[in-house]
Amino acid sequence: MSKRSMTKEDVSGRRVLCRVDFNVPISGDRIEDDTRIRAALPTIRWLIEHDARLILCSHLGRPKGQVREDLRLAPVAARLSELIAQPVTAMPEPTGPSVTLAVDDLVPGSILLLENLRFDPREEANDPGFARELAALADLYVNDAFGAAHRAHASTQGVALLLPSSIGFLMQREISTLTRLLNQPERPFGAIIGGAKVSDKIGVIEHLLPRIDQLLIGGGMANTFLLAQGKRLGGSLVETDKLEQARHILVEAERTGTTVQLPSDVVVASSIEVAQGTVTTVDDIDAEDAVFDIGPTTAARYAGILASLRTVFWNGPLGVSERAAFAQGTSTVAAAVAATTTFTVIGGGDSVAAVEKLGLAAKIDHISTGGGASLEFLEGRSLPGIAVIPDDTGASDA
Ligand code: ADP
Ligand code: MG
Repeated sequence: MSKRSMTKEDVSGRRVLCRVDFNVPISGDRIEDDTRIRAALPTIRWLIEHDARLILCSHLGRPKGQVREDLRLAPVAARLSELIAQPVTAMPEPTGPSVTLAVDDLVPGSILLLENLRFDPREEANDPGFARELAALADLYVNDAFGAAHRAHASTQGVALLLPSSIGFLMQREISTLTRLLNQPERPFGAIIGGAKVSDKIGVIEHLLPRIDQLLIGGGMANTFLLAQGKRLGGSLVETDKLEQARHILVEAERTGTTVQLPSDVVVASSIEVAQGTVTTVDDIDAEDAVFDIGPTTAARYAGILASLRTVFWNGPLGVSERAAFAQGTSTVAAAVAATTTFTVIGGGDSVAAVEKLGLAAKIDHISTGGGASLEFLEGRSLPGIAVIPDDTGASDA
């Protein structure tokens, strides 16, 4: 069942509170990456073209309920204003007298941006009083903040209980793409799962196993699987308390007919600081060394498998990709994902950053704007910010 779309609403002349995810990397007044602002533009444009009186709201960073000058949203308002070529008024507070006055004066087709919601401790507490203050500003609520949908906060969950609620285009696209992966993936379907720890990814692996034909494992978490197979990992990052879970996944994979791919060669070094690592097989890891990347033979094998798939989901770098010495495995796999004509989806902050750094983002079918949210969605969990929105009944108020 799909969720009610904002396009079913008559927004003309009405006050619309739209939750967006403007949690962008920022230093001083400079926005280092405006991808998330751009991702919200289709919804913002649709609302103003339909003469909504638009009140945007977002969190930025982790101010923990206090005003932090370096986490004000004014630079985001300025960037948004450039992108849509119209003024965006930044409010000095998330709610309060100045906001109420500004909303009263807001004319159809114009835009206000509330101050960082997390300046108010009641936001993350999902305080009903704060949700009521937000709801009092508007006639309708639209959630387009997929990246925050896994949080039950006042602006993502509480307020939706108080106003007629719907979702925007970005939220719709995230839900439909990730639902397609879970419900109707074209087979063969493969998942590349990397990143630091098994514990972060166990939920998504278990939920995907019955749906995927190939599971390609890399990153720090591959170490725990190799350990479970009796390899010696030297000083590598391993989770000895997750060995049972790794073994369980290997057994489950046999049951679901999923082929699990593990590294056969790796890049090792005595420390993460070195300028270059050494390639070795997984049977020859020195006790003094640690594994920081998959090796070239493994990367080539993974790339070959990717070329044979019809659907690919990727989460987590295959090595310590922040460092040039250990970025090759991730680059090779990223290039292979970008080169396929297969339906490709990437989720996860570090994997998305790696693909963007390589300039390959345009060749991926869907780059999720929500790291944590996309993982929880693919774990099969209900996301509070989505669950609270009514289902689409097909009826229209417009
Ligand atoms: P994502 O943000 O894409 O979900 P994660 O946050 O799970 O990815 O994992 C990224 C982190 O994993 C990076 O900081 C990277 O350095 C680390 N990592 C990857 N491979 C290794 C490894 N072999 N040893 C230690 N850390 C690793
Ligand atoms: Mg990460």
